[in-house]
Amino acid sequence: MATPDGSEATPAFDTSQPTIARVYDALLGGKDNFAADREGAATYLKFVPDAGRCAIDNRAALVKGVQYLVRDAGIDQFLDIGSGLPTQKNTHQAAQEIDPNAKVVYVDVDPIVLAHGRALLATNDSTIVVTADLRKPQEILDHEEIKDHLDWDRPIALMIVGIHMHFHDDEKPDEWVRTLMDKLAPGSYLFITDFVDTGEPLQKAIEQAGLESLGNGWIRTPERIEQHFLGLPLVPPGIDFLERWNPADPEGDIPDVEDLQPYQRILMGGIAKKG
Ligand code: SAM
Repeated sequence: MATPDGSEATPAFDTSQPTIARVYDALLGGKDNFAADREGAATYLKFVPDAGRCAIDNRAALVKGVQYLVRDAGIDQFLDIGSGLPTQKNTHQAAQEIDPNAKVVYVDVDPIVLAHGRALLATNDSTIVVTADLRKPQEILDHEEIKDHLDWDRPIALMIVGIHMHFHDDEKPDEWVRTLMDKLAPGSYLFITDFVDTGEPLQKAIEQAGLESLGNGWIRTPERIEQHFLGLPLVPPGIDFLERWNPADPEGDIPDVEDLQPYQRILMGGIAKKG
């Protein structure tokens, strides 16, 4: 719905049910959540007492990946889908502190992200936030604001960070991502993090927490996570637990898997490049 100034009106939020964005915000210690979301976060903490630290580590990996993409890969355009509520350091801040001209499009299905993103971005012309659905990738590609904000003839980094777990494989999430990647210029990147299943009890526990609180939040084997990258070559070190994963210094000081805390073995991430 358009307002008199032509902008999209902010829809009223249903606060009776938890949403992924608001539960995640609660786990990160944010304030943009309601009682049902805090209950959802409490369910996560019941199953995985360090669930908040998982969320913090996922944000740290997001920043690590964006810094690599700007500094080492020379990327200055980001399409960040499932961006979540603004928190401490967001994609545009991580990118623009290295390249002030970097352009960012935030896309999230939850309208609360638009409401809070607009306030944060009131004075930032290089960054926009749009409400759209990853499950409808063609609508994202056809969205006028998104089309106009990015230069589609040059490389773009597509970020699908911390979302895959919310879709069952039956929904074929990789096909949505393929539709988006097909549209991106050669030299573009795909950055993903996801819940992993290497047979550990705490990984199963986070799945149970997600299913109980949100009705989704599945774990996947590393082999299955690798398939999210659609056969594109992975940037070293490939996919790994987030604490071990550092594309800017893949041979650096990497902790042994056994030395990680169990909660640090819940998420894996990686970046691939389109040739
Ligand atoms: N990417 C951020 C990060 O890693 O910190 C936020 C991750 S949060 C766990 C998942 C986000 O995906 C939520 O903000 C949720 O609203 C969003 N999301 C869920 N389903 C979506 C969909 N179909 N299309 C777009 N965004 C979606």
